[in-house]
Amino acid sequence: METGKILLVEDSISQRAFLKSLVSEGGYDVADAENGVKALEYLKEHNTNLPDIVISDIMMPEMDGHELSLMIKKLYPSILIIILTSDTDDDTLIKSFDSGATDYQSKPVKKIELLIRISNLLRIKKAEDTLHLALTKMELLANTDALTGVPNRRHILKELEKAIYTSKRYSLPLSLVEFDIDHFKSVNDHFGHLAGDEVLVKICSFIKQNLRQSDIIGRYGGEEFLIILPNVSIEGAIAVVTKCLDSIKNLSFESAPGRQITFSAGISQYNGQHKLDEFIAIVDSLLYKAKNNGRNRIET
Ligand SMILES: [Mg+2]
Repeated sequence: METGKILLVEDSISQRAFLKSLVSEGGYDVADAENGVKALEYLKEHNTNLPDIVISDIMMPEMDGHELSLMIKKLYPSILIIILTSDTDDDTLIKSFDSGATDYQSKPVKKIELLIRISNLLRIKKAEDTLHLALTKMELLANTDALTGVPNRRHILKELEKAIYTSKRYSLPLSLVEFDIDHFKSVNDHFGHLAGDEVLVKICSFIKQNLRQSDIIGRYGGEEFLIILPNVSIEGAIAVVTKCLDSIKNLSFESAPGRQITFSAGISQYNGQHKLDEFIAIVDSLLYKAKNNGRNRIET
């Protein structure tokens, strides 16, 4: 049998007591409320430990079962609803399902019937929750660079698009950094690809530690990264990147002993006009300039 938490909503005191004992006997954890308003209060209070199923009467004072269903579907979409009704005419059933019920139970309630309905819904819910979790995981994988754990190219570009929108919409500054690890190929050539991987992982996590929660670093290409700095002017961005550039020299790498790592970076502040590609093209050419001007430096 599935375990589960149930909220019973019924205005009749005797019905409520009867249903409560019936559902408890089924082994479920049961709470109860006398109408829709009280039920919503309960859900608000138990926001972190919501019931799996709400079983609700239709005819109740203050807020009826249909209104309650609509509210639950809006506020707590993962909760499943069973409507209790003595009218099983077409209109009542259609209205119940339209307002978000997953199932209905006709009155008078037969114990075994209600328990089977609950058990079935809990099984559906568990499958839905598992699917939802799997989808969330897949989405995360699709957006993450497997080596460094930061957003991949696809995801960082999406984030940049959002950042540009916010910057335009609220007239807030936005800075973008593109940096590239200097002589990365020679790290791979001298110490092997595992050393190259270690360098990428360490540099990435080091820079991440030096950013604010709202800044985003993502892997743009092989050894190229983008950093989005929302609500940061060019001066702020230069300060952050300079600090990273100064301290990154002191990092040591187990698989590349004695090797000092530096990077080159292009930094630009959004001008409120450019399209995403144009903005990237600017930092791209600044990065190129930094490389040409001797590496281990910033160009703006
Ligand atoms: Mg009633």
